[in-house]
Amino acid sequence: MRVLVVGSGGREHALAWAISASPLVDRLFCAPGNAGIAEEAECIAIGATDIKGLVRFCRGEQIDFVVVGPEAPLVLGLVDALEAEGVAAFGPTAAASAIEASKAFAKDFFARAQIPTAAYRRFRDPAAAKAFIASRGAPIVVKADGLAGGKGVVVADDLDAAYRAVDAALVERRFGTAGLEIVVEDFLAGEEASFFALVDGKDALPLASAQDYKRVGDGDIGPNTGGMGAFSPSPIVTPVVEGVVMEHIVLPAIAAMGREGCVFKGVLYAGLMLTEAGPMLLEFNARFGDPECQVLMMRLMSDPLPALIAAHDGVLKSVDLRWHADSALCVVMAANGYPGEPQRGSEIRGLDTAASDPKVKIFHAGTRRENQRLIADGGRVLGVTALGRDLAEVRGRAYAAIDQIDWHEGFCRRDIGSRSREN
Ligand code: AMP
Repeated sequence: MRVLVVGSGGREHALAWAISASPLVDRLFCAPGNAGIAEEAECIAIGATDIKGLVRFCRGEQIDFVVVGPEAPLVLGLVDALEAEGVAAFGPTAAASAIEASKAFAKDFFARAQIPTAAYRRFRDPAAAKAFIASRGAPIVVKADGLAGGKGVVVADDLDAAYRAVDAALVERRFGTAGLEIVVEDFLAGEEASFFALVDGKDALPLASAQDYKRVGDGDIGPNTGGMGAFSPSPIVTPVVEGVVMEHIVLPAIAAMGREGCVFKGVLYAGLMLTEAGPMLLEFNARFGDPECQVLMMRLMSDPLPALIAAHDGVLKSVDLRWHADSALCVVMAANGYPGEPQRGSEIRGLDTAASDPKVKIFHAGTRRENQRLIADGGRVLGVTALGRDLAEVRGRAYAAIDQIDWHEGFCRRDIGSRSREN
């Protein structure tokens, strides 16, 4: 088969790495890819959101199967455009990706599907939002409706902070059209974890759980980022919790989307709060997480490609995946300045030595090659990923690898994997 992976981050490197080992693959392409992906696939200079360019490439190169990594091309309708041209593609349609793109749409949908989630109301009028907030009390959560780059959610400890969040979105228009509407919802106390499932429109194949780290600094301080680290499995997602998540969250969502004529195929990523009353859904995403994908691919023993194809073909029932019982952990190395303006152009050395342990894989995100040198070219630059018996072992292995990387213009969190109850 001729396969194309779309995207250029660590998630797409992990997907390309796992898919490149498939005996089904004759040629693997990635658009646009990065310096690490270039070691697994042929990178082509077409942007992930250049829908027309990607469709043209797939027709010209007779691509048999496309795997879309990031949310932006999904929301722009890449899968719809490819399917319309007869090119099979893994991922939801633009309509089905609305489950991620609009929080207001998503919350109404959770209610219709009777999925356990925080009680909420939607607002466009700031005075009405504030009156509702005053009636509910703090803590309370204010969310901009649309995609706001991880900055649209405020967990307000007091009423003033909540009112300020309302004004930021509805009066100051700080999120542009993504904040024309807000969702105000109850604060949920508990521990957060993610759960991933492959979906073929009717059936779901549970993948695995993970926990991630969104803040830039140790101890969960500082601004939000795209993700500074992750590990899998999450010790708090026990088999019993997994069963509840599948029965009360994942399967009702798939059934309701089918009923509503918006069939979902792809990866359903459930962001969960494990509360005293059981798992509650914070949000769905319509794709793998980054860096959660890196830890999932590290733990996956089976070839992922037949499962992705089965999800597309609607025959997931026949698929079984095998996983390492071991833990995987990914520590993201970012360029100084991230998540603000990252410093670009510095050289990274020592990756070969750092990755010499067979249980370590370094996934690239923002990297490029200049002659033979590896150059940092983005905010999140590397995802140092390891496999080990438990979280303590895997954390030691990942940080030992990091300590061999010679890159003074980059940084990482030092506490990935040390938050879990087991530690
Ligand atoms: P979201 O984009 O909806 O996942 O929200 C981003 C983050 O805000 C989550 O990962 C949680 O840490 C926090 N959060 C969102 N909603 C709630 C809630 N209802 N209660 C407590 N924390 C929340």
